[in-house]
Amino acid sequence: MALLVQKFGGTSVGTTERIEAVAERICRFRREGHDLVIVVSAMSGETNRLIGLANAIMEEPTPREMDVLVSTGEQVTIALLCMALHKRGCDARSYTGSQVRIVTDSAHTKARIKQIDEENMRADLNAGRVVVVAGFQGIDERGSITTLGRGGSDTTAVALAAALKADECQIYTDVDGVYTTDPRVVEKARRLDRITFEEMIEMASLGSKVLQIRSVEFAGKYNVPLRVLSSFGEGEGTLITLEDDTIMEQPVVSGIAFNRDEAKLTISGVPDTPGVALRILKPVSDANIEVDMIVQNVGADGHTDFTFTVHRNDFKRAREVLDGVARELGAREVTGDNKTVKVSIVGVGMRSHAGVATRMFEALSNEGINIQMISTSEIKISVVIDEKYLELAVRALHTAFDLDKPEAEA
Ligand code: ADP
Ligand code: ASP
Ligand code: MG
Repeated sequence: MALLVQKFGGTSVGTTERIEAVAERICRFRREGHDLVIVVSAMSGETNRLIGLANAIMEEPTPREMDVLVSTGEQVTIALLCMALHKRGCDARSYTGSQVRIVTDSAHTKARIKQIDEENMRADLNAGRVVVVAGFQGIDERGSITTLGRGGSDTTAVALAAALKADECQIYTDVDGVYTTDPRVVEKARRLDRITFEEMIEMASLGSKVLQIRSVEFAGKYNVPLRVLSSFGEGEGTLITLEDDTIMEQPVVSGIAFNRDEAKLTISGVPDTPGVALRILKPVSDANIEVDMIVQNVGADGHTDFTFTVHRNDFKRAREVLDGVARELGAREVTGDNKTVKVSIVGVGMRSHAGVATRMFEALSNEGINIQMISTSEIKISVVIDEKYLELAVRALHTAFDLDKPEAEA
């Protein structure tokens, strides 16, 4: 008998039939004697639908009202799931984020959890009830509804598991675990039995949105055992773990992540003087635009080029800002390309292997794929390439790093 926090994502509660199937599964766990706190997302497509309604009225609604609106999606599913549980004779009670008292800061649409009251949940668990909590939402000190960013129900689940010291936090979704790469893109992608927190954080932040990044960071920080599994089938799923020193032969690369939202901007012929990076990038960050990769070329004749990437949604604005900077600095020109993507290989095994980058570049070169930018860290290498090569690049790398084979052979 264990205390489990189980989260069911949008697809898993996408119809009333699926909500009933989730209820069946929960009843089974109850019969086995487990204490359960359930976190649910909105029905799939609902959060996007609500955002669409807001945008039909105005382009930039206030973040506070946006949160009041989008948090309603999860309120629907907690009630429906409790009804489906009651119908099966399973005692359950629903809570919105504010009713639990999941207290966050006031950064609407991307709030961070500060504190969780356990009292209501403990009382229900002690009374033998299943606790059903709306994911993605909280309340700030002033009593305003907040949300945790897209995919935030994962973070709600991990935070509740940490607060309650649950035995495991289980993320039920529409795939049966974390794969070597997105199985929707590469048919040969394989489920991993285990992946380290560090690798999962890189995978998530480099584009594998199977888990919200913050949920993995949170689980790593508070040592919450975290597992990804299927809501539709059975199986052990993928356990996210601390690095295991006992595994002698780590694969060099554990997974391949990609991000289709990358756009590239170059400002050429800027004076190669101290402070130039600041003069280029400060106006960009002042405009609230996040910069991802940055490359400055070696200068020649006292001038240099500077290239960086931003989210595609920010491309137009970033270009306008950069045009202003170019005029001020007397730069030669500004060019941009919003048809680029970032592909990354991730693995703690890279620490102890040489020649990983060469192998990556060779695989891409064999396919005639031009690398536009490169960035590396201890456990990842990312490249920016033309979007038309995305699938080809991911497949080629998947093969080059032996990920097509079953784990035992790799
Ligand atoms: P949920 O609605 O349950 O939160 P998400 O859509 O957020 O589900 O996450 C599951 C999806 O993540 C999968 O359907 C899959 O296409 C995608 N995904 C991307 N990268 C990976 C990966 N490496 N392993 C598994 N799934 C991945
Ligand atoms: N419903 C929210 C979203 O679509 C939160 C979540 O599903 O985790 O982003
Ligand atoms: Mg999700």
